[in-house]
Amino acid sequence: MGLNSADEIVTIDGPAGAGKSTISRKLAKRLGYVYLDTGAMYRAVAVLAQKEGVHPEDEEALERLCRHLDIDFQESGTNQRIFCQGDDVTEEIRAPQIGSLASKVSMRRSVRRAMVNLQRKIGEKGKVVAEGRDTGTVVFPRAKYKFFLSANLHERGRRRYAELKAKGVDVVLDEVKEEMEKRDVQDSTRELAPLRPAEGARIIDSTTLTPDEVIEEIMKFIKLKRP
Ligand code: C5P
Repeated sequence: MGLNSADEIVTIDGPAGAGKSTISRKLAKRLGYVYLDTGAMYRAVAVLAQKEGVHPEDEEALERLCRHLDIDFQESGTNQRIFCQGDDVTEEIRAPQIGSLASKVSMRRSVRRAMVNLQRKIGEKGKVVAEGRDTGTVVFPRAKYKFFLSANLHERGRRRYAELKAKGVDVVLDEVKEEMEKRDVQDSTRELAPLRPAEGARIIDSTTLTPDEVIEEIMKFIKLKRP
């Protein structure tokens, strides 16, 4: 990554349900940048591992799987679709059990290495809004604009529940919250690339903010740091 491209990278990390996807998608559109959903990539690996009967703790099998991995994003109207091995997995990756499995496979070194390489390749030319857990700490440590988005557990659970319901996924609020909490603990305490704010990241608590208000906060910071 050249110096100039680091100037044009925005990273947005944080726990599940903090609003990262909504914010990142909107922000990318506003800045004319590419939206890089790194969580979707780990979810795609989880879907593939499940299809191939690969256990999330089988590092060797995961490494083999990653060697032949083909993940691709395609823009479709205002949406982004994700393909894995040529199959459209956009809807499939959103199932709550895939979120849990993604959290397990993402603990593995071979999986992280493959994903980070791919993410850096996508970010090579800059003009990217990357969202995930380690985009500011590991993937793009030299990014100029780093954010850490949080919100209290109740609000995050409520948002995720509403999102899933709207998509027609049959879920129970308490189960959504429980799955989320478990995943956050796993993501924050793991050895590799644990979830935490990057150095210099601006921390935004979105509990009482609308997506547009969060974007305004982010834009203030970006303007401040722009030469
Ligand atoms: O953001 P999303 O909920 O789609 O991420 C699914 C899972 O993928 C997370 O719980 C986390 O374990 C993993 N992940 C990660 N690093 C990222 C993005 C996601 O480990 N940069």
